[in-house]
Amino acid sequence: MQALKDKILSEGKVIGDDILKVDGFLNHQIDTKFLEEIGCEFKKRFEGCKVDKILTVEASGIAVACETARQFGSVPVVFAKKAKPNTIVEGCYSAEARSFTKGTVANLRVIKRFVSEGEKLLILDDFLASGEAAVALIRIAEKAGAEVVGFGAVIDKTFQGGRKRIEDMGVRVEALASIERFESGKPIFTNDN
Ligand code: 5GP
Repeated sequence: MQALKDKILSEGKVIGDDILKVDGFLNHQIDTKFLEEIGCEFKKRFEGCKVDKILTVEASGIAVACETARQFGSVPVVFAKKAKPNTIVEGCYSAEARSFTKGTVANLRVIKRFVSEGEKLLILDDFLASGEAAVALIRIAEKAGAEVVGFGAVIDKTFQGGRKRIEDMGVRVEALASIERFESGKPIFTNDN
């Protein structure tokens, strides 16, 4: 998605060797007009796929998931919670994921009532790095007996291995911008999207 690559180049900031900050438009302040373009692009990429629900993880995946859900005819969005609040008093599906940015392990949880056997799920997140969050969401879908139609990331840092990990699980991956490496503080994109 060229508009996304342009926005990353003009507004993104590379931190250290492997972190890209896009908090000015994607995961702190949100450019809602641009978010609509992201939702439309995911709809285009997964055109022809039946999607009953979108599954994501709090917090940064939620906005992307909601906008994309609108493009799929306002299907529900379910987001996995990273901590167990007192309000969860019923059965959950859970799976562990090591946080790439925090270095901690979170137990992602989804109440069983919100993901059902046979449901077709599109899984989305803002970033795909090592694939920890994506794998945990896929495991949750598997535990529920739901079908994963694909995984979509707004930004994929291909060099961190997550994409291969998900594809090796037999799940289709679509990324709107894929970064091959960082060079002199700038992202270098792969040519395939
Ligand atoms: P993974 O689980 O694939 O290793 O990492 C994906 C998760 O970590 C995403 O949910 C995202 O919030 C966070 N993340 C990974 N890499 C980056 C990055 O370069 N920048 C930001 N802002 N978040 C990232």
